[in-house]
Amino acid sequence: MQEILRKSAMEQFSAIKEKKVSATELTKASLDRINSIDEKLGAFNSLTEEIALETAKKVDEKVAKNEDLPLLAGVPLALKDNMNLVGSRTTASSKILENFVSPYNATVTQKLLDNLVPIVGKANLDEFAMGSSNENSAFKKVHNPWNLNKVPGGSSGGSAAAVSSCEATLALGSDTGGSIRLPASFCGIVGMKPTYGKVSRYGLIAFASSLDQIGPFSRTVEDSAALLEIIEGYDPHDSTSLNIPVQNYRASLNNDIKGLRVGVVKELVGEGLAPDVQKAMQNAIDTYKALGAEVVEISLPNLKHSIGIYYILATAECSSNLARFDGVRYGHRTDNAENLLEMYCKSRAEGFGAEVKRRIMLGTYALSSGYYDAYYKKAQQMRRVVTEGFVKAFEKVDVLISPTCPNTAFDLGSKTEDPLAMYLTDIATISANLAGIPAMSIPAGFDGDGMPIGLQLMSPQLSEAKLFNIAYKFEQSHDYYKQLANI
Ligand code: GLN
Repeated sequence: MQEILRKSAMEQFSAIKEKKVSATELTKASLDRINSIDEKLGAFNSLTEEIALETAKKVDEKVAKNEDLPLLAGVPLALKDNMNLVGSRTTASSKILENFVSPYNATVTQKLLDNLVPIVGKANLDEFAMGSSNENSAFKKVHNPWNLNKVPGGSSGGSAAAVSSCEATLALGSDTGGSIRLPASFCGIVGMKPTYGKVSRYGLIAFASSLDQIGPFSRTVEDSAALLEIIEGYDPHDSTSLNIPVQNYRASLNNDIKGLRVGVVKELVGEGLAPDVQKAMQNAIDTYKALGAEVVEISLPNLKHSIGIYYILATAECSSNLARFDGVRYGHRTDNAENLLEMYCKSRAEGFGAEVKRRIMLGTYALSSGYYDAYYKKAQQMRRVVTEGFVKAFEKVDVLISPTCPNTAFDLGSKTEDPLAMYLTDIATISANLAGIPAMSIPAGFDGDGMPIGLQLMSPQLSEAKLFNIAYKFEQSHDYYKQLANI
């Protein structure tokens, strides 16, 4: 691999500005890397070489004229394949959208193109972002760059594997219940889910709209902050978009955190934690104490209900969102239907995979008359209770920490027969989506087999600047983030 690919996005950006490397060279290096290793990883559904090189050329023309460059111009990025990019197929890793070509750009995509960020390809995911291991892709599995027999985490497994293996320097993912943070943790990189409403979802294929949020993948906290600066901001095309100013998160990364109050989530550090994850957690506590923070235990007693709440609400919303895939306007249409109803049924039966069907059925049931009050309404009420638990906790502490997952990446195929075991992987991540708060996963060590461990940080709504600051301080106290998968 070319040395430049190992560098952080901000280092690559500086190298381009200082004419040490051209954006075209860097983009080609990224594409070469993908072409040489992605057969083993399966991180990409498709490459968008032409779009990437065209963008890189624009960067080089600006450099030649000594013009200022927009932030991260020329740094190769992988786009999760549930976000629209004109000129690319956007499949959501589903057979139903296998040949769907984006008719317009998602807002995030447009922002990346405006900033001259070369988009090298569309990253693999669990079908419609439903899953925790990326094994639900209709096309191929993604392998973890640290050990090819293990899962990369899901649903943004392709995005995480691409960044972790230096195929791309940055990626975007979407996080409905942990789909950015879990794969970031399993692949040893930084994954960030912003406050609900910070980043527009216009042009993201919706899974569960009250939970979905787009966010950055990178190998450093600084890169994550920079990428969020580019993609966030008000968008009239997304009715949940917050009309607040865009921030400069990099300015406060290195602020002193003496006196900061760090809460350790009691329910997420007890029983059931893998011993090496437990050790990494203790190390995180010690690190924050050494940095002058005050560490206390915080209880979130309703956290145990979060998976139950999520699997009612997310499935209910997806049953509604996925109703649009009916063989009429988008994607796959069956060849052998006698009438309209049969056309709908067969198109959906042929197009959707098993997990997606399971969720549509669960959600339809939870919303059906007679069950709505018992399931959907109850889950909404409990969502509120979980959210209030966070509000109370943040009266006492500035940030909450926990492992991103009780265990490290598991073997491919080991949980595919047991949906419940798969759902439980998200025990630490889901509640941040229910509460709409920002949360991130950062590299926090390795287990005995050399697999990465992730530390999750959660903070109050709209406190991203502080969250990045607290994450950066931890990152800079260790060299975990400097270690790269050997592939
Ligand atoms: N793993 C969770 C699920 O299967 C979360 C997915 C996500 O965040 N998109 O629904």
